[in-house]
Amino acid sequence: MNYNTKLLSTSERDIAYAAKLLADGEVVGIPTETVYGLAADAENEDAVKRIFEAKGRPQDNPLIVHIADVAQLEDYVHDIPKLAYKLAEKFCPGPLTMVLPKKDRIPDVTSAGLDTVGIRIPYHPAARKLILESGKALAAPSANLSGSPSPTTAMHVMNDMHGRIPAVVDGGSCPVGVESTVISFEDGKIRLLRPGFISADELSEFAEVICDKHITEAAIDGEQVRSPGMKYKHYSPKANVTIISGSVSQYIDYVNSHGGSGVYAMPFDSDKDNCKIPCITYGDTPEEQAAKLFGVLREFDDIGAKQVYARCPSTDGVGLAVYNRLLRAAGFEIISL
Ligand code: AMP
Ligand code: MG
Repeated sequence: MNYNTKLLSTSERDIAYAAKLLADGEVVGIPTETVYGLAADAENEDAVKRIFEAKGRPQDNPLIVHIADVAQLEDYVHDIPKLAYKLAEKFCPGPLTMVLPKKDRIPDVTSAGLDTVGIRIPYHPAARKLILESGKALAAPSANLSGSPSPTTAMHVMNDMHGRIPAVVDGGSCPVGVESTVISFEDGKIRLLRPGFISADELSEFAEVICDKHITEAAIDGEQVRSPGMKYKHYSPKANVTIISGSVSQYIDYVNSHGGSGVYAMPFDSDKDNCKIPCITYGDTPEEQAAKLFGVLREFDDIGAKQVYARCPSTDGVGLAVYNRLLRAAGFEIISL
């Protein structure tokens, strides 16, 4: 791993170059609507192994496979329930990953040895073009070093992956900002494994939704988890992050009386004027908070923050995804006032 990593644009020429790299079994950083992905040919074992190496990702954490069209689903998975097609009609292309029984052409290294695979159809035009032009289904986890906050700009990817992969396609900031909603199917019900932009409420219009307990609870050592990524502490900046739960005035009083060297607040935009210690705000609505969260966590690293007190977000809509990521960034440390 000693590449002179190229930053590519989304021009036709650069997309063609990136697609050729992918077709040749290389790993490329790509924009999607959720976060940047570290993509490679999902059926090429060596290429997929390089993703794990570049990220330093644990081998038991499966990758999501990205395809261009619902019509391609049957090429990669089998026993697809009718419900999956109904959801695909409503939400795909989009930030929804469906875990389904995999066909043999998806190697074990991609699914981390599971007999299922998560499949997603991204709507980001550059991601779609790369799938179509490379002619490959693309396995792509988030393009951060394992354990760091996910990247939402090409610069974030460059910071983590420079020298480790041949190229990154710069498609601007990711509009959603948190990873896809991951679901599986159980006896006609939907199990929510990882919250994302598509909320449990939206899914519940199609079937009963069971929220996996590991969305908001830490896995105990050795405990079986349905979504392997949920057992790792990740999305984590170097600073110690603590979530402060309580009313706005309780939050403001808490941070204003806990200032010190390297201590920062992470309030909502609307709290900024009342914050008397240094702060970086992360939006007001759940959508704004999703789009800003990872970039803000990375900014705390850039300024060398030691302790960050984050105001607890609402769990409405995509807010549950924001809360889920922040909980992991905080190693589940919450102070309830
Ligand atoms: P990332 O690629 O970083 O967005 O993480 C993908 C996450 O999706 C994994 O960490 C898992 O939690 C989940 N996932 C992917 N494939 C499966 C699968 N076959 N079964 C359960 N969860 C999965
Ligand atoms: Mg990730």
